[in-house]
Amino acid sequence: MSAFHREKVLSVQHWTDTLFSFKATRDTSFRFQNGQFAMIGLEVDGKPLLRAYSMASANHEEELEFFSIKVPDGPLTSRLQKIKEGDTILVGRKAVGTLITDNLLPGKRLLMLSTGTGLAPFASLIKDPDVYERYEHVVLVHGCRQVSELAYGERLVAKLAEDELFGELMKDKFTYYPTVTREPFRNRGRITDLIASSQLFNDIGQGPLSIETDRIMLCGSPHMLEDLKVMFEERDFIEGSGSKPGHFVIEKAFVER
Ligand SMILES: Cc1cc2nc3c(=O)[nH]c(=O)nc-3n(C[C@H](O)[C@H](O)[C@H](O)COP(=O)(O)OP(=O)(O)OC[C@H]3O[C@@H](n4cnc5c(N)ncnc54)[C@H](O)[C@@H]3O)c2cc1C
Repeated sequence: MSAFHREKVLSVQHWTDTLFSFKATRDTSFRFQNGQFAMIGLEVDGKPLLRAYSMASANHEEELEFFSIKVPDGPLTSRLQKIKEGDTILVGRKAVGTLITDNLLPGKRLLMLSTGTGLAPFASLIKDPDVYERYEHVVLVHGCRQVSELAYGERLVAKLAEDELFGELMKDKFTYYPTVTREPFRNRGRITDLIASSQLFNDIGQGPLSIETDRIMLCGSPHMLEDLKVMFEERDFIEGSGSKPGHFVIEKAFVER
């Protein structure tokens, strides 16, 4: 048995010159938990060329969706950004990852903090009805440099708000907070600063960061993760894992090579 499923690309959407998303068929045997990632890629010169990708679709959906960077000279994404409907991608059979609700202690508010393509696992998790059952409030923060880079997330949230089931759940429980660092926008600044200054909580009209009620998932650049981890640990939050649930969990959106 091959280690990969061969899936057909169903659609591709380019959001900016550095970001795109695509949908693909999903083998019925491919199971994952919302928030997890798998190795995906292309066959190049007869060999698989694979990278870690978070599923941006939820596990109840029939199709797979991914949200991707375009690295100009990146071995995979210089090719992957050219895929079109009908092309074949490889999807590893095994899904893994720490951004799952079972790795967190019970809490009242779930903060999902992301930068760039770190939004992808949260695109999956905000489509999970169980998340809204576990938490009284769900806050999705997405930080980017430019306003145009928010488009995928903005569209996703707007579509979900129109959905019969999720629209109702989200109306009472969900807050979306996009923020931009390099252009004028209604919310501005780095996530670390917005939390340290409590501006995030003031802006959304909710209580300040609290170890009693807040559980946190982080996915973004290595730099953002480092800064936030230090900040949360200084406040006695403990990192959770599959073996021991904690107050926060971390997944890298990419690794620096
Ligand atoms: C757990 C995990 C989950 C991931 N999920 C996703 C995902 O859902 N979507 C996605 O686009 N990528 C994701 N990545 C990154 C992905 O695995 C690849 O690095 C990316 O697709 C680029 O591949 P490449 O071969 O073109 O370039 P690589 O050789 O892999 O990367 C070259 C350089 O590009 C930069 N880079 C790579 N990926 C990103 C990124 N996503 N955002 C900003 N800069 C980047 C880094 O500086 C890196 O050193 C994930 C990585 C990890 C570890």
